[in-house]
Formats: sequence, C-alpha cells, structure tokens
Amino acid sequence: MAVKIIDTCINCGACEPECPNEAISPGDSIYVIDPEKCTECYGFYGESQCMSVCPVEAIVPDEDHPDTVETLLAKFRKLHPGLEPKNTENWKKPGT
Ligand code: SF4
Ligand code: SF4
Repeated sequence: MAVKIIDTCINCGACEPECPNEAISPGDSIYVIDPEKCTECYGFYGESQCMSVCPVEAIVPDEDHPDTVETLLAKFRKLHPGLEPKNTENWKKPGT
C-alpha cells in the first residue's frame, strides 16, 4: 500500500527530497503523499525512504490504498517509462 503522513508531522520537509517518485509535497497544514505516485519505494530502494528519514515517525502505511507487488510495479512503470526496477530482491513492505 501507499504510505501516508499523519498529523504528528512537524513540517520539517526531510521526506520530500527522498522520494524517488516526487510523491511528497507540502500540503495545507502538513506534508502529503499522493497515493498514485507512492510505490512504497519498490523499484528503487529496499525500504521506504520517507519513513526512514522522518524524525517523528509521522509516516505510516495507508490502509485505504492497498497495493500488491503487481500494482506497485505498474505504478513504477507508469511513472518511469523505460527504467528498469532495481533492488526488488531486497524490498520490504513498509511496516513489516
Ligand atoms: S514510500 Fe517511497 S515512494 Fe512512497 S512516498 Fe515514501 S519515499 Fe515516496
Ligand atoms: S519527515 Fe516527517 S515530520 Fe518531516 S515533513 Fe516529512 S512527515 Fe513531516
């Protein structure tokens, strides 16, 4: 599933540049993640980069936007035409 930012976000901005899909942006009150662009870092990194850098653990799995490896790969291919996914053998679903 995608991940989401909860209201304990302190707007530090650390997560935004870490996302390989540019899925994170400043929202009206806290940073937000576009679930259509979040691949749970599948295709790039073994673990969720935004969750790793958040100093207050304000990024959590988004139960309302479930994904399988197949749907994550489909998002990856749509966002990055021509690019081959990497590190998939090390990939771990966020929160597991
Ligand atoms: S989990 Fe990865 S792809 Fe999803 S928002 Fe965070 S950094 Fe971006
Ligand atoms: S790293 Fe965490 S606290 Fe900082 S903007 Fe992102 S979600 Fe908010």
